Amino acid sequence: APESKPPLSELQSTVVCRCRPLLPDHDNGSFQAVTTNGPNIYVHKEVSKAGLVNTTGKINSKKFQLHASTSDGDDQSIYDLFVQAVVEKSTAGGIGCVLAYGQTGAGKTHTIEAMMEIMFGTGIEIVAVSCFEIRSDEVHDLLNDGEELRVLTGAEGTDNIVGLKKVETVEGEVTEVVGRAKSLRSTASTNANDQSSRSHAFYTFFLPSGGSLTFVDLAGSENKADAISHSESENADERLKEMKEINKSLGDLKECIRLTLVNSKGGKQQHIPYRRSVLTRLLRTSLDVSPTSEVKTTFLCHVAPTRRSLPMTINSLNYAEQMV
Ligand code: ADP
Ligand code: MG
Repeated sequence: APESKPPLSELQSTVVCRCRPLLPDHDNGSFQAVTTNGPNIYVHKEVSKAGLVNTTGKINSKKFQLHASTSDGDDQSIYDLFVQAVVEKSTAGGIGCVLAYGQTGAGKTHTIEAMMEIMFGTGIEIVAVSCFEIRSDEVHDLLNDGEELRVLTGAEGTDNIVGLKKVETVEGEVTEVVGRAKSLRSTASTNANDQSSRSHAFYTFFLPSGGSLTFVDLAGSENKADAISHSESENADERLKEMKEINKSLGDLKECIRLTLVNSKGGKQQHIPYRRSVLTRLLRTSLDVSPTSEVKTTFLCHVAPTRRSLPMTINSLNYAEQMV
């Protein structure tokens, strides 16, 4: 008999596709090249004469399957469906983590910022905040002028960032503190052309229960390494190195999430290679979804609905599918 699937709310680790809306100013009249239906995502290479996409996946369409998917532009519904349970895990004293993955322009920052705003609006009590960025495997404190910090492994094998600022907040102040971190990130991006899509940003909230909640805006998943290696730009070598580190860390992340899922199904336990990159070292506790841990994680794979994004969309969905 086929295994019956547990309901979404019972999964400790959920992998969801969010397809952002077509943006009139941004997407120059592209047709809707991605449609979603429950766990199914369809990628369409063409439209019918009637202007309709084929949602059955039979004609020049490719089907992907994750735990869930949505094309809803409305942030509140994303929060209610996929984020609220993670927040509740943290307020109950556990560890919650929301990760945004996808190519640049697919809506990662939009989602992460919207989810934090909605959470603040629920009146949740937050005692302290830390924000940092991983750029080329270096950690920079977003609440301390981007100071570079070291990561050290403690006695229990867990990794800590030495000297990371933990800002204690009083009622209503948390938005202002996070705003400072966000603006430091976007300032850097105007100075060095879209820095923010080349770094992983972490926003961690510490709650009165002792639980914590981390929102991660991952670096853009597009593989620009080829383009950069052929370009004449003066920073080509550095950019190429950076791109390789991003791709490697995202690959390591996928492998860790995939293996935790394998392990959570019982059977012979696989070694999880957390130590391979700074990203996975720092996500280790959040990714430990063994049945005995108090951890809940939502991985939001972002895609853009445009035709020109299709190659990247297919890459992103292939990546996410391996974690389900
Ligand atoms: P990324 O961080 O993945 O590079 P952004 O979050 O910057 O992408 O989003 C790219 C563009 O799409 C921005 O102009 C953003 O405002 C817009 N956008 C993303 N998601 C949505 C959404 N759900 N509704 C409306 N606009 C969105
Ligand atoms: Mg972004």
